[in-house]
Amino acid sequence: MPDAEGRKIVDCHTHLMWYPDHVAQEYAEEALASKLIKLKMSGGQAYTGRLDLHSYDSKPETHWEVSEPADHVVVFGLQAKATGLWVPNEIIADYVKQHPEKMQGWASVDPTQPDALDQLDYCVQDLGLKGLKLGPVYQHFDPEDRKYWPLFEKAQQYQLPIMWHQGTTFPSKAKLKWGLPLQLEDIAMAFPDLKMIIAHIGHPWEEDCIVLVRKCPNVYTDISAVHYRPWRYWQAMVTAMEYGITHKILLASDFPSGTITNVINGLRNVNAPVEGTNLPKIPTEIQDQIIYENWKSFFPEWV
Ligand SMILES: [Zn+2]
Repeated sequence: MPDAEGRKIVDCHTHLMWYPDHVAQEYAEEALASKLIKLKMSGGQAYTGRLDLHSYDSKPETHWEVSEPADHVVVFGLQAKATGLWVPNEIIADYVKQHPEKMQGWASVDPTQPDALDQLDYCVQDLGLKGLKLGPVYQHFDPEDRKYWPLFEKAQQYQLPIMWHQGTTFPSKAKLKWGLPLQLEDIAMAFPDLKMIIAHIGHPWEEDCIVLVRKCPNVYTDISAVHYRPWRYWQAMVTAMEYGITHKILLASDFPSGTITNVINGLRNVNAPVEGTNLPKIPTEIQDQIIYENWKSFFPEWV
């Protein structure tokens, strides 16, 4: 529901997935270990939930509950054979069909699979999905390798935005060398009508992400899953301000990694590490813009 001033909130990055149906045991174990560290680092402020192999479960009921503060939500799975993640796109389509006013489903296809292009056709034409989630670090593909580019070309033809996990991650099987934000530069230039979001401000390569967002009109970023590293987060936001890209930062939770409530609280506390100093602060107006305004240029259908 819009607030008293008629302002709406959009969460542009959430997942459905649960163990053991979509998540391999090794991944679930490593996810739990990483969650414990984040909880410790955030003084318990990161999303709590369960502390077992089901820590990263996001089932439709839970997803619906935590999405309550948001007016519109983008939801997808992830298909990454190499790291043991496989969420069927049908689950996403079924869920968003129950909440068409609020939820928008995006596809995930694994570019390393021979039928990736057909899968994308199927997701758009049969399932009605409206965007594409990719994570080269999880899927073991080099985004600069031209053999994968027909997928981006197809996404542009269908006018599907791409949400990139272009940043680091925890699984031992991940390929971090394919997670660098600058690896998207040639793609962004070659497909100027392809709208793209780099998740998590590209952490820990926030500067690279920010300068790419600055030069490419079609590239945005989101602030999911960064608030529990308060020092990095504050620095990234100051950098974003200094390079003039705060209007291209989108609000997102990456649920089940965090919730939209956690992320908003994290943004409201972004200046905490430097309170009482002369170091630069992120003004409330910029925080408000990220929470209530920036989604409008990316999701005009919800204005
Ligand atoms: Zn994600």
